[in-house]
Amino acid sequence: MSSVGFVLILLNVLDHVNICISHEELSRVLLISLDGFRWDYLDMVNNKGHPTPNFQMLIDNGVVVKSPGVRNAFVTVTMPNHYTLVTGLYEESHGIVENEFYDPVFNETFTIPNSLQLKWWNGTGMQKVEPIWVTNDAVGDEHHASGAFFWPGSDVIGMQPRYHSTSPYNDSIPFSVRANTVIGWFTQKHEPINFGALYYHEPDETGHLHGPNSAEMVVMIVTLDQYIGDMIKILKEKGIFNELNIVLTSDHGMAEMTENVYLDDYVDSSLYSWFGGSPVANILPKAGLFQSVICSTVNFSSYCKILSIIHTHVLYAGLLLTAIQRVKFSCV
Ligand SMILES: [Zn+2]
Repeated sequence: MSSVGFVLILLNVLDHVNICISHEELSRVLLISLDGFRWDYLDMVNNKGHPTPNFQMLIDNGVVVKSPGVRNAFVTVTMPNHYTLVTGLYEESHGIVENEFYDPVFNETFTIPNSLQLKWWNGTGMQKVEPIWVTNDAVGDEHHASGAFFWPGSDVIGMQPRYHSTSPYNDSIPFSVRANTVIGWFTQKHEPINFGALYYHEPDETGHLHGPNSAEMVVMIVTLDQYIGDMIKILKEKGIFNELNIVLTSDHGMAEMTENVYLDDYVDSSLYSWFGGSPVANILPKAGLFQSVICSTVNFSSYCKILSIIHTHVLYAGLLLTAIQRVKFSCV
């Protein structure tokens, strides 16, 4: 596995500070996530002779944080990390511990298509859990309104920002449509937003299809640079670029797999249920079989002691066993 990390965080610093704040002068934040944008993709692409001038312009005028300055949360997959980004909480606290997981209390399995109920998103304990768009909207004055386009969690019923996509998540909706919609929320006359969150599923998809070090990935990073350039051009035309704090980040990186380990070689698959996948398998032994699955299986015994403790307390996710892969490319 290569090193983990978010890609970069770019801040376009406000031109000025005012004591008397009108809406036009209020700090506004545009949070953008490019899914699976490994921390070193820009260097990789630039070193192959392909410039990325729009990313570079933001870097030259902002602040860059590279790995290991910012680390993603564990488990390193899309839904948990995006919810960590907007709640400030680790996964065991906000409750979204995988893209797919079993909850023994609900006796239900969380999947991305089955994720719109609030009960999955409001925490695993006493701690209040709410994404930043809810906190911002709760201020309740004309200066605070949130909008999010396809950010994980933003379409959950009862937790939506004031403005959000009116259609269910759909990969085929282009970046330009998503970006222009959010820009429209910032610039509309009636209740413009001061916080916008924008999610795009690339370059993660390209990484899973072709590999993180592929020629296709180079093309995708250059394409994303053009998308960002188009967005900046519109922000400038609308006159809000210089007063917008842009945070450009990601949820995880990606590494090429060098070896497959098959769980079936170590433990009988009829003894457990399986949830999730890359890069962490969620193994839930069937009733009464915890000892035989975990403590008697070769190579699992080192997990036995700590998992025995977790087993009695865990609300979400069952058991987590690392380094068991069935997929070619793994989010890290
Ligand atoms: Zn992701």
